[in-house]
Amino acid sequence: MKMALQVEDNKNNIPESWEKIRMRLKKEYGRATYTSWIKHLDLQNVEGSQVVLSVPTRFIKEWIQNNYHRTIESFWQQECDNTYRVDLIVRPKANDDKPESRPFTASGVDVSGQNIDVLSVAKDMESFGSPLDRRFTFDNFVVGDSNQLAFAASKALAESKNVVRGNNPYYLYSKVGLGKTHLMHAIALHMRKHQPGRKVIYLSAERFMYQFITALKNKNIMAFKDSFRNIDVLLIDDVQFICGKESTQEEFFHTVNALLDQKKQLVIAGDRPPSELEGMQERIRTRLGWGLVVDINSADFDLRLGILRSKVDQMIDATLPDTVLEFLASRVTSSIRELEGALHKVVAHATLMNKDITLESTQSILTDLLRANEKSITIADIQKKVAGHFGIKVADMSSANRSRSVARPRQIAMYLTKKLTTRSLSEIGRKFGGKDHTTVMHAVKRIDGLLEQDEELKSDVSLLERMINQ
Ligand code: ADP
Ligand code: MG
Repeated sequence: MKMALQVEDNKNNIPESWEKIRMRLKKEYGRATYTSWIKHLDLQNVEGSQVVLSVPTRFIKEWIQNNYHRTIESFWQQECDNTYRVDLIVRPKANDDKPESRPFTASGVDVSGQNIDVLSVAKDMESFGSPLDRRFTFDNFVVGDSNQLAFAASKALAESKNVVRGNNPYYLYSKVGLGKTHLMHAIALHMRKHQPGRKVIYLSAERFMYQFITALKNKNIMAFKDSFRNIDVLLIDDVQFICGKESTQEEFFHTVNALLDQKKQLVIAGDRPPSELEGMQERIRTRLGWGLVVDINSADFDLRLGILRSKVDQMIDATLPDTVLEFLASRVTSSIRELEGALHKVVAHATLMNKDITLESTQSILTDLLRANEKSITIADIQKKVAGHFGIKVADMSSANRSRSVARPRQIAMYLTKKLTTRSLSEIGRKFGGKDHTTVMHAVKRIDGLLEQDEELKSDVSLLERMINQ
């Protein structure tokens, strides 16, 4: 009874709150951003803790998702005093012309009755999980050295009809933005399509916690437990979220055990290996590490370029000049999400301005982003890591010692500095003990040339690059 009343209240306030949130967003981001992006958002549906906002195109959706989603979500939570989760969907074309005429509904079903995305969101909610992004398929996943194993393991798991004992749980980890969620969605989408009889649920750990806390509050913990009863495959994303959250962990542990005991497949993703999940109970860490543990490493240049090419294909009809793609791939190195964000920004800008995309425009559009990317990479850090790797002293990076055991690592460090930062040759020279810019240029060329022939050097350099980019 009390619950019903609350929902009633929310329903009345929500359009009003949404209006306030829009105004706050306008203030936060300024008129231009508001008009280009945020204005296109429409409130589509609210049910329980889930808010669904719609936009006219996939492109705008992605843009908002990448740039403003977090703020939008936190504004909702502040305005409505509730842990809202905001999902974005692309609304059907027919609705685009007259957005004002579309009435708001809080019933849980889209008013147009024809929006497949919304329906699938609603269906997912019934079944307790989070919605799946249809673009996150195996086909759209570009494979390279760093994610090959994770891709193969995920695909094999998605295709198998039975639970393979050694693979359960399947634990996938990487730093942020390297494709864990993409692969988890791909597994779930694949299974739902090819094995419709199996009940496959994908859920972030955050949502798990939210559902659990809500159930506790409403005293229907039995219903919460029931939701897991007939699941065949459970995928839980971002498990690190429940580190330090004791009661949620307790419940999570029971859920995991119950499913494993029943030989149900578990897929868990986190931002670090199970053993390093600080604030997670030891017994849970052990359990999560029982099965197959696979990681995704930072993408190398080739993979970043491959991903960009594939995203461009999906995004626009036009192609981008190779120089632009190569520039992006060499400068935005830390995560694929950021790389995608940079690409979107460049394309958006060009579309809005109706201009061609060139290397120069790309550089100027991305100034801030590039600077931010670079901040994390300092020359000192490169010198330290390279020296450490070759077992020489950091001081040797600035010395005039020409013996090969010291000079080669120094050249590698110069090469990496040139490659990974925007420092000029003379600046680099200065930081390496006041050397001339021609010395740096020579070092860069030398290493570049050697990389073609020397496999060992190549693997040293790519390992160092990964370490520096971490
Ligand atoms: P994570 O969950 O590890 O933080 P995501 O799966 O959310 O990362 O990936 C971030 C973005 O990068 C997504 O849009 C995803 O589609 C994209 N992405 C990551 N890896 C790849 C890949 N190998 N091929 C294509 N897209 C990728
Ligand atoms: Mg993720």
